[in-house]
Amino acid sequence: MNPLSPGSTIGILGGGQLGRMLSMAAAQLGFDVCIFTDEPDSPASRVSAKTFVASYQDVAALTDFARRVQRVTTEFENVPAETAEALIAAGVRVAPNPHALAIAQDRFDEKSFFRSLGIATPPFAAVSSQAELNAALAEIGAPAILKTRRLGYDGRGQIRIKAADDTRGAYDKLGAPGILEGYCAFEREISIIAARGADGGLAFYDPCENEHAGGILNRTTLPAHISTGVAGKARDAARRVLDAVDYVGVLTLEFFVMADGALIANEMAPRVHNSGHWTIEGAVTSQFEQHIRAVAGWPLGDTARRGDIEMLNLIGDDAHDWRRIASEPGAHLHLYGKRDARTGRKMGHVTRLLL
Ligand code: AMP
Repeated sequence: MNPLSPGSTIGILGGGQLGRMLSMAAAQLGFDVCIFTDEPDSPASRVSAKTFVASYQDVAALTDFARRVQRVTTEFENVPAETAEALIAAGVRVAPNPHALAIAQDRFDEKSFFRSLGIATPPFAAVSSQAELNAALAEIGAPAILKTRRLGYDGRGQIRIKAADDTRGAYDKLGAPGILEGYCAFEREISIIAARGADGGLAFYDPCENEHAGGILNRTTLPAHISTGVAGKARDAARRVLDAVDYVGVLTLEFFVMADGALIANEMAPRVHNSGHWTIEGAVTSQFEQHIRAVAGWPLGDTARRGDIEMLNLIGDDAHDWRRIASEPGAHLHLYGKRDARTGRKMGHVTRLLL
Protein backbone atom coordinates (compact mmCIF):
# COMPACT_ATOMS: atom_id res chain seq x y z
CA MET A 1 0.00 0.00 0.00
CA ASN A 2 1.39 3.39 -0.96
CA PRO A 3 1.78 5.72 2.00
CA LEU A 4 -0.63 8.65 1.95
CA SER A 5 1.13 11.91 1.14
CA PRO A 6 0.86 14.89 3.48
CA GLY A 7 -1.97 17.06 2.21
CA SER A 8 -4.27 14.05 1.78
CA THR A 9 -7.55 13.89 3.68
CA ILE A 10 -8.33 11.24 6.27
CA GLY A 11 -11.97 10.61 7.11
CA ILE A 12 -12.92 9.79 10.69
CA LEU A 13 -16.23 8.22 11.69
CA GLY A 14 -17.34 9.78 14.97
CA GLY A 15 -17.02 13.24 16.44
CA GLY A 16 -16.08 12.66 20.10
CA GLN A 17 -12.90 13.41 22.01
CA LEU A 18 -11.04 10.49 20.44
CA GLY A 19 -11.81 11.88 16.99
CA ARG A 20 -10.72 15.30 18.21
CA MET A 21 -7.33 14.05 19.40
CA LEU A 22 -6.88 11.93 16.26
CA SER A 23 -7.63 14.98 14.18
CA MET A 24 -5.04 17.06 16.01
CA ALA A 25 -2.42 14.32 15.51
CA ALA A 26 -3.31 14.05 11.81
CA ALA A 27 -2.86 17.81 11.45
CA GLN A 28 0.62 17.51 12.96
CA LEU A 29 1.55 15.11 10.15
CA GLY A 30 0.18 17.43 7.48
CA PHE A 31 -3.16 15.72 6.82
CA ASP A 32 -6.58 17.28 6.64
CA VAL A 33 -9.39 15.52 8.47
CA CYS A 34 -13.01 15.16 7.50
CA ILE A 35 -15.34 14.04 10.31
CA PHE A 36 -18.53 12.06 9.72
CA THR A 37 -20.86 12.23 12.72
CA ASP A 38 -24.56 12.23 13.50
CA GLU A 39 -24.08 15.00 16.08
CA PRO A 40 -23.88 18.69 15.18
CA ASP A 41 -21.18 20.78 16.90
CA SER A 42 -19.08 17.77 17.91
CA PRO A 43 -15.74 18.06 19.77
CA ALA A 44 -13.88 16.64 16.73
CA SER A 45 -15.59 18.79 14.13
CA ARG A 46 -14.36 21.93 15.83
CA VAL A 47 -10.71 21.04 15.10
CA SER A 48 -11.19 19.47 11.66
CA ALA A 49 -11.19 20.85 8.14
CA LYS A 50 -14.66 19.56 7.26
CA THR A 51 -17.58 17.71 8.85
CA PHE A 52 -20.50 15.74 7.47
CA VAL A 53 -23.42 15.66 9.89
CA ALA A 54 -25.67 12.80 8.82
CA SER A 55 -26.98 9.45 9.97
CA TYR A 56 -24.55 6.51 9.79
CA GLN A 57 -27.22 4.85 7.62
CA ASP A 58 -27.31 7.68 5.07
CA VAL A 59 -25.71 5.99 2.07
CA ALA A 60 -25.77 9.13 -0.10
CA ALA A 61 -23.93 11.15 2.55
CA LEU A 62 -21.46 8.30 3.16
CA THR A 63 -20.75 8.04 -0.57
CA ASP A 64 -20.13 11.78 -0.79
CA PHE A 65 -17.84 11.58 2.28
CA ALA A 66 -15.94 8.62 0.78
CA ARG A 67 -15.28 10.61 -2.41
CA ARG A 68 -13.65 13.42 -0.47
CA VAL A 69 -11.23 11.36 1.60
CA GLN A 70 -8.34 9.05 0.79
CA ARG A 71 -8.73 6.75 3.83
CA VAL A 72 -11.38 6.21 6.48
CA THR A 73 -10.91 5.27 10.10
CA THR A 74 -13.12 5.35 13.16
CA GLU A 75 -13.06 6.55 16.72
CA PHE A 76 -15.74 4.10 17.89
CA GLU A 77 -16.33 0.39 17.40
CA ASN A 78 -20.11 0.41 17.00
CA VAL A 79 -19.96 1.44 13.37
CA PRO A 80 -23.01 -0.21 11.75
CA ALA A 81 -22.02 -2.93 9.28
CA GLU A 82 -23.96 -1.15 6.52
CA THR A 83 -21.91 2.02 7.09
CA ALA A 84 -18.65 0.17 6.49
CA GLU A 85 -20.16 -1.61 3.48
CA ALA A 86 -21.33 1.68 1.94
CA LEU A 87 -17.83 3.16 2.33
CA ILE A 88 -16.12 0.14 0.83
CA ALA A 89 -18.64 0.09 -2.03
CA ALA A 90 -17.72 3.72 -2.68
CA GLY A 91 -14.13 2.57 -3.15
CA VAL A 92 -12.39 3.96 -0.08
CA ARG A 93 -10.06 1.95 2.16
CA VAL A 94 -11.36 1.51 5.73
CA ALA A 95 -8.92 0.78 8.56
CA PRO A 96 -9.30 -1.03 10.87
CA ASN A 97 -11.24 -3.44 8.70
CA PRO A 98 -14.97 -4.04 9.33
CA HIS A 99 -14.33 -7.63 10.46
CA ALA A 100 -12.29 -6.40 13.46
CA LEU A 101 -15.01 -3.87 14.29
CA ALA A 102 -17.73 -6.53 14.07
CA ILE A 103 -15.94 -8.81 16.56
CA ALA A 104 -15.61 -5.99 19.08
CA GLN A 105 -19.30 -5.07 18.76
CA ASP A 106 -20.51 -8.25 20.42
CA ARG A 107 -19.15 -9.35 23.79
CA PHE A 108 -19.94 -13.00 23.12
CA ASP A 109 -18.21 -13.01 19.71
CA GLU A 110 -15.28 -11.10 21.22
CA LYS A 111 -14.75 -13.57 24.06
CA SER A 112 -15.19 -16.53 21.69
CA PHE A 113 -12.56 -14.94 19.44
CA PHE A 114 -10.13 -14.59 22.40
CA ARG A 115 -10.75 -18.19 23.32
CA SER A 116 -10.06 -19.33 19.75
CA LEU A 117 -6.66 -17.62 19.99
CA GLY A 118 -5.80 -19.29 23.31
CA ILE A 119 -6.30 -16.05 25.28
CA ALA A 120 -7.89 -16.70 28.70
CA THR A 121 -11.27 -15.10 29.43
CA PRO A 122 -13.66 -15.26 32.38
CA PRO A 123 -16.07 -18.22 32.05
CA PHE A 124 -18.94 -16.99 29.87
CA ALA A 125 -22.18 -18.06 28.22
CA ALA A 126 -24.65 -16.40 25.85
CA VAL A 127 -28.09 -15.90 27.41
CA SER A 128 -31.22 -14.93 25.53
CA SER A 129 -33.91 -15.81 28.07
CA GLN A 130 -34.39 -16.03 31.82
CA ALA A 131 -34.21 -19.85 31.57
CA GLU A 132 -30.86 -19.64 29.78
CA LEU A 133 -29.64 -17.20 32.41
CA ASN A 134 -30.56 -19.61 35.20
CA ALA A 135 -28.85 -22.49 33.38
CA ALA A 136 -25.72 -20.39 32.72
CA LEU A 137 -25.50 -19.32 36.36
CA ALA A 138 -25.84 -22.94 37.49
CA GLU A 139 -22.82 -23.74 35.33
CA ILE A 140 -20.65 -20.64 35.90
CA GLY A 141 -21.60 -20.06 39.54
CA ALA A 142 -22.10 -16.82 41.51
CA PRO A 143 -20.90 -14.12 41.74
CA ALA A 144 -21.29 -13.28 38.07
CA ILE A 145 -22.02 -10.31 35.82
CA LEU A 146 -24.79 -10.15 33.27
CA LYS A 147 -23.97 -7.80 30.39
CA THR A 148 -25.70 -6.90 27.17
CA ARG A 149 -23.94 -8.51 24.22
CA ARG A 150 -23.98 -5.26 22.27
CA LEU A 151 -23.73 -1.52 22.87
CA GLY A 152 -22.57 -1.55 26.49
CA TYR A 153 -19.80 0.79 27.57
CA ASP A 154 -18.42 2.41 30.72
CA GLY A 155 -20.20 -0.19 32.87
CA ARG A 156 -23.62 0.48 31.30
CA GLY A 157 -25.86 -2.47 30.51
CA GLN A 158 -24.43 -4.57 33.36
CA ILE A 159 -26.14 -6.33 36.27
CA ARG A 160 -24.15 -7.89 39.11
CA ILE A 161 -25.47 -11.25 40.28
CA LYS A 162 -24.20 -11.81 43.79
CA ALA A 163 -25.79 -15.15 44.68
CA ALA A 164 -27.35 -18.14 42.96
CA ASP A 165 -30.90 -17.03 43.89
CA ASP A 166 -30.31 -13.47 42.69
CA THR A 167 -31.40 -13.78 39.06
CA ARG A 168 -35.14 -13.19 39.33
CA GLY A 169 -36.24 -10.61 36.75
CA ALA A 170 -32.60 -9.96 35.77
CA TYR A 171 -33.06 -10.93 32.14
CA ASP A 172 -36.07 -8.63 31.70
CA LYS A 173 -34.15 -5.84 33.37
CA LEU A 174 -31.28 -6.30 30.92
CA GLY A 175 -33.83 -6.14 28.11
CA ALA A 176 -31.55 -7.47 25.37
CA PRO A 177 -29.56 -10.58 24.45
CA GLY A 178 -26.82 -10.95 27.01
CA ILE A 179 -23.69 -12.70 28.13
CA LEU A 180 -23.17 -14.04 31.64
CA GLU A 181 -19.58 -13.81 32.84
CA GLY A 182 -18.01 -15.29 35.93
CA TYR A 183 -16.83 -12.57 38.30
CA CYS A 184 -13.02 -12.27 38.38
CA ALA A 185 -11.70 -11.24 41.80
CA PHE A 186 -8.76 -9.51 40.15
CA GLU A 187 -5.81 -7.89 41.84
CA ARG A 188 -5.58 -5.10 39.30
CA GLU A 189 -6.75 -4.08 35.84
CA ILE A 190 -4.32 -3.33 33.04
CA SER A 191 -4.55 -2.51 29.38
CA ILE A 192 -2.10 -2.59 26.55
CA ILE A 193 -2.18 -0.24 23.60
CA ALA A 194 -0.74 -1.88 20.51
CA ALA A 195 -0.49 -0.99 16.84
CA ARG A 196 -0.13 -2.85 13.58
CA GLY A 197 1.02 -1.07 10.45
CA ALA A 198 -0.14 -1.63 6.89
CA ASP A 199 2.98 -3.77 6.32
CA GLY A 200 2.16 -6.01 9.32
CA GLY A 201 4.79 -4.33 11.56
CA LEU A 202 3.90 -4.23 15.25
CA ALA A 203 4.44 -1.75 18.07
CA PHE A 204 3.48 -2.00 21.74
CA TYR A 205 3.28 0.58 24.50
CA ASP A 206 4.07 -0.41 28.06
CA PRO A 207 0.97 -1.88 29.74
CA CYS A 208 -0.77 0.59 32.02
CA GLU A 209 -2.75 0.11 35.20
CA ASN A 210 -6.36 1.32 35.27
CA GLU A 211 -8.67 2.21 38.15
CA HIS A 212 -12.39 2.57 37.51
CA ALA A 213 -15.01 4.40 39.52
CA GLY A 214 -18.66 3.63 38.86
CA GLY A 215 -17.68 1.63 35.76
CA ILE A 216 -15.82 4.61 34.20
CA LEU A 217 -12.05 4.84 33.89
CA ASN A 218 -10.82 7.23 36.54
CA ARG A 219 -7.03 6.90 36.69
CA THR A 220 -4.28 5.32 34.60
CA THR A 221 -0.75 4.91 35.95
CA LEU A 222 2.58 3.63 34.65
CA PRO A 223 4.48 1.54 35.24
CA ALA A 224 1.83 -1.08 35.98
CA HIS A 225 2.60 -3.24 39.00
CA ILE A 226 3.18 -6.38 36.99
CA SER A 227 6.21 -8.57 36.29
CA THR A 228 8.02 -8.46 32.96
CA GLY A 229 6.58 -11.95 32.36
CA VAL A 230 3.00 -10.67 32.70
CA ALA A 231 3.80 -7.69 30.46
CA GLY A 232 5.15 -10.15 27.89
CA LYS A 233 1.93 -12.19 28.06
CA ALA A 234 -0.12 -9.03 27.44
CA ARG A 235 2.02 -8.19 24.39
CA ASP A 236 1.73 -11.73 23.10
CA ALA A 237 -2.08 -11.67 23.39
CA ALA A 238 -2.22 -8.32 21.58
CA ARG A 239 0.02 -9.64 18.82
CA ARG A 240 -2.25 -12.66 18.31
CA VAL A 241 -5.36 -10.46 18.10
CA LEU A 242 -3.78 -7.99 15.67
CA ASP A 243 -2.40 -10.68 13.36
CA ALA A 244 -5.57 -12.80 13.43
CA VAL A 245 -7.71 -10.05 11.90
CA ASP A 246 -5.02 -8.48 9.68
CA TYR A 247 -5.50 -5.34 11.73
CA VAL A 248 -4.28 -1.89 10.71
CA GLY A 249 -4.26 0.83 13.37
CA VAL A 250 -4.16 1.08 17.16
CA LEU A 251 -5.99 -1.52 19.22
CA THR A 252 -6.44 -1.77 22.98
CA LEU A 253 -6.75 -4.93 25.04
CA GLU A 254 -8.03 -4.80 28.62
CA PHE A 255 -7.15 -7.49 31.15
CA PHE A 256 -7.76 -8.51 34.72
CA VAL A 257 -4.55 -9.51 36.52
CA MET A 258 -5.18 -12.27 39.08
CA ALA A 259 -3.18 -12.76 42.28
CA ASP A 260 -1.17 -15.60 40.70
CA GLY A 261 -0.21 -13.39 37.73
CA ALA A 262 -2.74 -14.97 35.35
CA LEU A 263 -4.05 -12.58 32.73
CA ILE A 264 -7.76 -12.72 31.87
CA ALA A 265 -8.88 -10.75 28.82
CA ASN A 266 -11.90 -8.53 29.46
CA GLU A 267 -12.37 -6.73 26.17
CA MET A 268 -10.75 -5.21 23.13
CA ALA A 269 -11.29 -1.78 21.66
CA PRO A 270 -10.43 -1.56 17.95
CA ARG A 271 -9.35 2.05 18.34
CA VAL A 272 -7.38 4.50 20.40
CA HIS A 273 -8.44 4.32 24.04
CA ASN A 274 -8.89 6.44 27.14
CA SER A 275 -6.21 4.40 28.93
CA GLY A 276 -3.77 5.50 26.20
CA HIS A 277 -4.15 9.24 26.67
CA TRP A 278 -0.91 9.25 28.69
CA THR A 279 0.99 8.58 25.46
CA ILE A 280 0.44 12.19 24.29
CA GLU A 281 3.10 13.50 26.65
CA GLY A 282 4.35 10.22 28.12
CA ALA A 283 5.56 8.41 25.00
CA VAL A 284 7.72 9.41 22.05
CA THR A 285 4.77 8.82 19.68
CA SER A 286 1.22 9.29 20.96
CA GLN A 287 -1.42 6.62 20.36
CA PHE A 288 -3.24 9.15 18.16
CA GLU A 289 -0.24 9.80 15.93
CA GLN A 290 0.47 6.07 15.87
CA HIS A 291 -3.04 5.32 14.64
CA ILE A 292 -2.83 7.97 11.93
CA ARG A 293 0.58 6.65 10.87
CA ALA A 294 -0.82 3.10 10.55
CA VAL A 295 -3.95 4.17 8.69
CA ALA A 296 -1.87 6.32 6.33
CA GLY A 297 0.52 3.44 5.62
CA TRP A 298 3.41 5.26 7.27
CA PRO A 299 6.06 3.56 9.39
CA LEU A 300 5.00 3.10 13.02
CA GLY A 301 6.53 5.48 15.56
CA ASP A 302 8.67 4.86 18.64
CA THR A 303 6.58 3.80 21.66
CA ALA A 304 9.26 4.42 24.32
CA ARG A 305 7.90 5.83 27.59
CA ARG A 306 9.32 9.04 29.03
CA GLY A 307 8.90 8.33 32.77
CA ASP A 308 6.42 7.37 35.45
CA ILE A 309 3.00 8.69 34.61
CA GLU A 310 -0.44 9.39 36.03
CA MET A 311 -3.44 10.25 33.85
CA LEU A 312 -6.64 11.37 35.57
CA ASN A 313 -9.95 11.70 33.77
CA LEU A 314 -11.93 14.87 34.35
CA ILE A 315 -15.50 13.64 34.60
CA GLY A 316 -18.54 15.90 34.83
CA ASP A 317 -17.89 18.74 37.29
CA ASP A 318 -14.18 17.80 37.66
CA ALA A 319 -13.58 19.92 34.57
CA HIS A 320 -14.61 23.07 36.47
CA ASP A 321 -11.24 22.70 38.21
CA TRP A 322 -9.40 23.78 35.04
CA ARG A 323 -7.98 26.97 36.62
CA ARG A 324 -6.24 25.09 39.41
CA ILE A 325 -4.90 22.41 37.05
CA ALA A 326 -3.76 25.02 34.53
CA SER A 327 -1.70 26.73 37.22
CA GLU A 328 -0.03 23.51 38.37
CA PRO A 329 3.56 23.18 37.06
CA GLY A 330 4.02 20.03 35.01
CA ALA A 331 0.32 19.19 34.66
CA HIS A 332 -0.82 18.66 31.06
CA LEU A 333 -4.46 19.70 30.83
CA HIS A 334 -6.70 18.51 28.00
CA LEU A 335 -10.28 19.74 27.64
CA TYR A 336 -12.52 18.28 24.98
CA GLY A 337 -14.64 21.34 24.26
CA LYS A 338 -17.91 19.70 25.31
CA ARG A 339 -20.58 22.30 25.88
CA ASP A 340 -22.07 20.99 29.15
CA ALA A 341 -20.50 19.03 32.01
CA ARG A 342 -23.17 16.36 32.52
CA THR A 343 -22.63 13.81 35.31
CA GLY A 344 -20.51 10.90 34.14
CA ARG A 345 -19.45 12.69 30.95
CA LYS A 346 -15.75 12.63 30.02
CA MET A 347 -14.89 16.34 29.79
CA GLY A 348 -11.10 16.18 29.69
CA HIS A 349 -8.06 14.65 31.31
CA VAL A 350 -4.84 15.66 32.98
CA THR A 351 -1.50 13.90 32.63
CA ARG A 352 1.38 14.23 35.07
CA LEU A 353 4.84 12.92 34.32
CA LEU A 354 6.77 11.93 37.41
CA LEU A 355 10.29 11.92 36.04
P1 AMP B 1 -16.63 -3.68 30.76
O1 AMP B 1 -17.65 -2.68 30.30
O2 AMP B 1 -16.97 -5.08 30.37
O3 AMP B 1 -15.23 -3.32 30.38
O4 AMP B 1 -16.67 -3.63 32.36
C1 AMP B 1 -16.40 -2.43 33.06
C2 AMP B 1 -15.69 -2.77 34.37
O5 AMP B 1 -16.48 -3.67 35.16
C3 AMP B 1 -14.36 -3.50 34.18
O6 AMP B 1 -13.30 -2.62 33.91
C4 AMP B 1 -14.22 -4.18 35.55
O7 AMP B 1 -13.80 -3.25 36.54
C5 AMP B 1 -15.65 -4.61 35.85
N1 AMP B 1 -15.89 -5.97 35.30
C6 AMP B 1 -16.39 -6.27 34.10
N2 AMP B 1 -16.45 -7.61 33.90
C7 AMP B 1 -15.98 -8.17 35.02
C8 AMP B 1 -15.77 -9.54 35.44
N3 AMP B 1 -16.08 -10.58 34.66
N4 AMP B 1 -15.22 -9.74 36.68
C9 AMP B 1 -14.91 -8.68 37.48
N5 AMP B 1 -15.09 -7.40 37.13
C10 AMP B 1 -15.61 -7.13 35.92
